[in-house]
Amino acid sequence: MKIAIMGAMIEEIDPFLVTDGDEPLLQFFKKHNECQYGGNLYHEATFKGHDIILAYSKIGKVNAALSASTLIEKFGAEMVLFSGVAGAVNSELKIGDLVAATQLCQHDLDITAFGHPYGYVPEGAVYVDASAKLLAIATEVAEEKNINLKHGIIATGDQFIADHEKKDWIKSTFKADALEMEGAAVAVVCDACNVPFFIMRSISDAADSDAAFDFDEFLKHSAQRSSRFIISMLDKILVKA
Ligand code: SAH
Repeated sequence: MKIAIMGAMIEEIDPFLVTDGDEPLLQFFKKHNECQYGGNLYHEATFKGHDIILAYSKIGKVNAALSASTLIEKFGAEMVLFSGVAGAVNSELKIGDLVAATQLCQHDLDITAFGHPYGYVPEGAVYVDASAKLLAIATEVAEEKNINLKHGIIATGDQFIADHEKKDWIKSTFKADALEMEGAAVAVVCDACNVPFFIMRSISDAADSDAAFDFDEFLKHSAQRSSRFIISMLDKILVKA
C-alpha cells in the first residue's frame, strides 16, 4: 500500500523543527528519495515494506488541493492522512487536544445568493465524510493509548480566524468543532478520486482574539501531538485498512 502523509506547514512535517525527544514524521520513516513537484517537496520513504510519501502543501485550500491531487495522481497514493493544527470552535476543546474529522466543510464557500446553503456548490455537498474505517482505527488507537480523541466536524476556509463573532458564525452555521485552512480541500480531492482520507488536528488556539499569539506559542507542541498520533495509527492501518 502507498500511504500519503501531508501537512500544510513545514512545522507539521519537518524533522528539524519538530523534535523534542519524540520521533518526528520525516525522521520516523526510512527515506529514500525526494522530489520537487509543483513548487513543493515530496519525500518518498518506506515503513514496514510499504511506501510512504510525505509532503507539506503550504497554507490554504488551493495549495492543499494541489498537494492532495499530486499525491494521488502523480505519486499513486492510495490513502491520504493529514496531520496538523487547528483552532478550537467547540469550547470543550483545549490547546493540545486531538480532533479527528468526521466531516469537513468549506465555511468560506458562499453562493447563498442563489438560494443554496453556505458551503454548497452544485454537484457537490456541504459536508464530505472522512473514511469510517480510518476513524474506527483512530478510536481504537486512542482507547489503547488512553488518549482523549474527539471526533468532530471541521470547517475549512482561506482565513485565519481570530475573532469571536466569525467563530460563532462558523459554529452555528456548520456545527463545527474546529476550524483550519486545508482539511476540506483535501477531503474534496480525495472524495472525488475515491481515496480514503483521515484529517487529524491538534488544537493550537481558540480562534479568538488571542489566536495569533497562542498559535505561535503552541504550534510546535500541537503539531507534534498530531503527528505522533498519526504514526501510532500506522500499524493498524497496514493490517485493517
Ligand atoms: N503563522 C503562520 C500562518 C499560520 S495560518 C505564518 O505566519 O506563516 C494557520 C495554520 O494553522 C493553517 O494551516 C490552518 O490550517 C491552521 N490553523 C490553526 N488555527 C487556525 C485558526 N484559528 N484559523 C484558521 N486556521 C488555523
